[in-house]
Amino acid sequence: MPHSNKMRRMEIYKERDTQVFLSKFLKGEISELEPVYDVKLGYSYPMVEEIVGDASSVESFLNKLYEAGVLERRLYDKIIYCPRCGSANVSVHYCCPYCKSFNIQRSSLIEHVKCGYMDVEENFRKGDKLVCPKCHEELKKLDVDYRKAGVWCTCRDCGKSFDIPLTAHFCRDCHTTFTFEDAVFKDFYAYTLKEEVKEEASLGLVMITPISDFLMENGFKVESPAFLKGKSGANHMFDIAAYKERGKTQKVTVIDLAVSEDVVSEQSVIALFAKIYDVSPDNAYLIAVPKVSENGKKMAELYNIKVIEAKNSKEVIEVLESEVLEK
Ligand SMILES: [Zn+2]
Ligand SMILES: [Zn+2]
Ligand SMILES: [Zn+2]
Repeated sequence: MPHSNKMRRMEIYKERDTQVFLSKFLKGEISELEPVYDVKLGYSYPMVEEIVGDASSVESFLNKLYEAGVLERRLYDKIIYCPRCGSANVSVHYCCPYCKSFNIQRSSLIEHVKCGYMDVEENFRKGDKLVCPKCHEELKKLDVDYRKAGVWCTCRDCGKSFDIPLTAHFCRDCHTTFTFEDAVFKDFYAYTLKEEVKEEASLGLVMITPISDFLMENGFKVESPAFLKGKSGANHMFDIAAYKERGKTQKVTVIDLAVSEDVVSEQSVIALFAKIYDVSPDNAYLIAVPKVSENGKKMAELYNIKVIEAKNSKEVIEVLESEVLEK
């Protein structure tokens, strides 16, 4: 997986909606998200709608997770919507290719094996029996006495016959008839969490939530993710911001999380420094999972950023317990 995608995913894991959504997969509440069908509205994902708040942003939410490589998808169904009113309550009309009427009669073509005579089924019908109109023998067993040789259609309006009808669509709501060419034709997918990102996702989710909870239990006001305005007027995002009253002033602690497969580079230190330079919090922590580069460590010291190297949230909390709380 490309590195830029991984960065993108780590950003995505910080979003509240994503956290709620992915935790359903990680907790095993769902293994595959399938669209739910409604005759008028077509397909939707009610569970996602509930999380993101409105139906119109569901598609972009799922697309974002798919494009970042968090979700996998398989084509579930294709759906046709009316081009005039948008309804999914659409039926298929099989039409006469000559006069376009959908008032057609479909018959089976039958061949009498013995004499070779072929005609539509109706012409063989004699009461509840099938009798050959040519040789007058009774047809008893399918595939022995006779065989079905396809369909044959007759138009009840113009009287012409044909074997392949035209296909058209009819909107049961606004009664518009339209062709495949004009139909709104849309793909719907079923989604699963990618096996390769399960660990990464749970780390992103599993780290931040317990740390936030720990800080709240210890009397901090916590925002996660937090947007703090700097001296420049710009807003900066931190994974966690924790506030505590100290006499008449409020102490602000910002925490960023950087995750790497092996070593977190100094880039994360520089990025955090750029933000705290503008925001000037009382404390700044970089949680590096599992550890930070030597260069990053030196820079952090220079910039007054405290680095916590940890493999899990428990290790982070142990350090925070001795550091943040004692101050
Ligand atoms: Zn319609
Ligand atoms: Zn016709
Ligand atoms: Zn016959």
